Amino acid sequence: MKNIVYFNNRFMPYNQAVLPLATHAFHYGTGCFEGIRGYYNKEQKKIHIFRLQDHYARLARSCRTLSMELPMAINDLCATTTELLKKNHYQQDVYIRPIIYKSDETVIKFDLTKLSDSFAIYTTPLGHFLDVSSGIKAITSSWQRVDRHMIPPSAKPTGLYLNTCLAKTEVARQGADEAILLNNDGSISEGSAENIFIIKDNHLITPATTENILEGITRNTIIEIAKKELKLRTIQRKVMARELIDADGIFLTGTGAEITPIVNIDGHKVTLGTVTTKLQKLYFDIVNGTNLKYSHWLTSIS
Ligand code: PMP
Repeated sequence: MKNIVYFNNRFMPYNQAVLPLATHAFHYGTGCFEGIRGYYNKEQKKIHIFRLQDHYARLARSCRTLSMELPMAINDLCATTTELLKKNHYQQDVYIRPIIYKSDETVIKFDLTKLSDSFAIYTTPLGHFLDVSSGIKAITSSWQRVDRHMIPPSAKPTGLYLNTCLAKTEVARQGADEAILLNNDGSISEGSAENIFIIKDNHLITPATTENILEGITRNTIIEIAKKELKLRTIQRKVMARELIDADGIFLTGTGAEITPIVNIDGHKVTLGTVTTKLQKLYFDIVNGTNLKYSHWLTSIS
């Protein structure tokens, strides 16, 4: 891996960015992060970063929850990110991972306010990683979503992703592609790293923000474009697991997962309907910079 990263307040080659063994975040998952995508448009010869400001605004909120302090203002974080992408000369779709973490070399301190923060940005080429065209097979996980009174899921804390790893391990053992995690009361929370929507009677339904979800930027995008472009409203409420079986369609949303249809849930077939296909087309046109109506969501790099 020869790319350039941002680490300890400067740009450097990836293999020079190393952490000491006693780093607090390595032992206790005391960090929070963002996942951002940049889409390379071959005709325009530009990378369009999707909703960069919104991702850093969410990181700033996460930091407040976790007693962390960002090293610079949101605008400067955006500028550092675009500078980093330019240094890497990508001509393909990329994934951008800013991370802030407790960097003290100690394994016996736990008060977050007494620990110091470091910030880094790592980037890597990334195409689709779920089958966005044919759809995927999902299972409801035997692992519950972590409750917000235990660890706040809205803060995207690194440690919380052990829950994701356990769910994805179960998925792999069962030969499926994705997990749907439930809350303690059997209602649906979200996918392993995605939000979930169901289509029913010509509207969208998605678990409310009180359902231990990460309030996804893609979720928010879909709610907005479904309303504006397809005149479809989204109901945010408690969604019970049995509602999946008689849905007219189900899809997952996430920066990584994009808009991925679920075509099989726990062995039950699910239709890949036209609503999902229309939303996908709108989304991909927007992120690739061909739908100019939403170009305010893009930070473009030549
Ligand atoms: N939930 C979880 C747990 C996630 O990790 C992600 C991915 N960031 C999402 C939902 C989707 O969020 P977004 O659309 O902002 O990527």
